[in-house]
Amino acid sequence: MYSRRAFCSCASLALVSSFAASRVHAADAACAVLTRDSQRAITPDAAIARLKAGNDRFTSGKTINCDLTAQVRETSKSQAPFAAIVGCIDSRVPPELVFDQRIGDIFCARVAGNFVNTDIIGSLEFAAKLSGARAIVVLGHNDCGAIKGAVDGAKLGNLTATLANITPAVTATKATGERSSKNANFVQAVAETNVKLTVAALTSRSKVLKDLVAAGQLRIAGAMHDLSTGRISFLG
Ligand SMILES: [Zn+2]
Repeated sequence: MYSRRAFCSCASLALVSSFAASRVHAADAACAVLTRDSQRAITPDAAIARLKAGNDRFTSGKTINCDLTAQVRETSKSQAPFAAIVGCIDSRVPPELVFDQRIGDIFCARVAGNFVNTDIIGSLEFAAKLSGARAIVVLGHNDCGAIKGAVDGAKLGNLTATLANITPAVTATKATGERSSKNANFVQAVAETNVKLTVAALTSRSKVLKDLVAAGQLRIAGAMHDLSTGRISFLG
């Protein structure tokens, strides 16, 4: 009886250790930091697919655990991120986490209301033209405080000027019903309009980005994050 139990326990251990080894090998591949060569091998469409797959892992609780300290060492001399995200500062929508990405994977520009200005567009030109990122995603989210503030015409210090960047989206949104932050449907519609206008601004205000898109070297997309599920839906 004793020996049989011992055998069972050894067999289970072997099974567990073989499973653990396969997980480690899978993680090894997924945890390899991007190089200029591996970045170039990712097409713009594949870059978007990679982000979608990351969000699938995030929402299904299957995120990849990597040795981030090792990734810090491996990226210390250079970086080759495959995408750039324009996101809101909202603490519940950190791009690296919701897209399940790690050190050196994505550039992130964050500002309340995920709009762009000259400084952010210049940063994205650096990301795409000089650093080779293959996709830019403008990531809005539901129940956004910045969008609500813009909808209500909130005024506070420098925030007044920040929210003015979202006013064009408020004006352009023709949803029915009360045009205030009390109307969740209107707030959502403005957030989506804001993402679409921001996507359009990237090529209308940047010849550098427009030329990259025309050459098939860059894809620009808009997406919305749902705070209650973590799910990201791409627009259009
Ligand atoms: Zn927000």
